[in-house]
Amino acid sequence: MSKPKTIEIISRTYPTMEGGFEIRRAFPNQGLGHPDPFLMLDHMGPMKVKAKEKAGVSPHPHRGFETVTYMFEGEIHHKDSYDNEGDIGPGDMQWMTAASGIIHSEFPSEKFQETGGTLHGLQLWVNLPKDKKMSSPKYQQINTKDMPNIQKDGYLIRVLAGSYEGQVSPVKTQTPIGYYHLTLEPQAKLSFKIPTDWMSMLYVVSGKISSSGESIEEGFVAKYSQEGETIEIQNQDQPTELMILGGKPIDEPVFSYGPFVMNTEAEIRKAFVDFHNGEFTKEKAEL
Ligand code: MN
Repeated sequence: MSKPKTIEIISRTYPTMEGGFEIRRAFPNQGLGHPDPFLMLDHMGPMKVKAKEKAGVSPHPHRGFETVTYMFEGEIHHKDSYDNEGDIGPGDMQWMTAASGIIHSEFPSEKFQETGGTLHGLQLWVNLPKDKKMSSPKYQQINTKDMPNIQKDGYLIRVLAGSYEGQVSPVKTQTPIGYYHLTLEPQAKLSFKIPTDWMSMLYVVSGKISSSGESIEEGFVAKYSQEGETIEIQNQDQPTELMILGGKPIDEPVFSYGPFVMNTEAEIRKAFVDFHNGEFTKEKAEL
């Protein structure tokens, strides 16, 4: 029998805005800080957008980490300063390794803007180790039809990154990471296995579960103990959508300021200088 993990902390999202997007931020916050190797988790929507309404984030830089966008509903159009562009629709994920630098914008797609509708998704920020922060930027897009999944009695696991029970995501991560979307029918019960040297968390997108004697509902995030091998999940009386995040801690100093996440203050200052001097992006990101 594998030993279940216990919950170290349960924390509630707080509402904020990003360029017209209604966001609930799961972390960083006072209780969770930066749960290494992750930096931030934003839950966008679900929000109604009228036809022709222009919510979105205009061109902005990133350096030193990765942004991961996963959509439940609606469609986001991504465009960068080298004219790489693409749409991220329901069930699609974009894994963007900003590394040495990307300047991009994030708006609902043209198709979505024509009709309006509901926008609902997640953006996760993943840290990079020191030796990869200034490496070449790169995009990986996995469309919903290519996402590996595991259908079990009462629940579905979509493997967005990493692997689970032999199903391997096509995404190449820079450090060992697992990112999973679980859809649970009422009363579903499972033990989710996590490698013993990983940090692990669970975020409830909608619905309500019990885990390690605690109740966790929509908009709450739980961080688990290092000790133990499984996250125990018991769904309650309604369908639930949740995310499991796991990863090997990078264990290096984090110095972050806005869209830059480096190891030292001097590197942050250099990012501002490079950006100001138009020397921010030196190479085209690989698609
Ligand atoms: Mn961005």
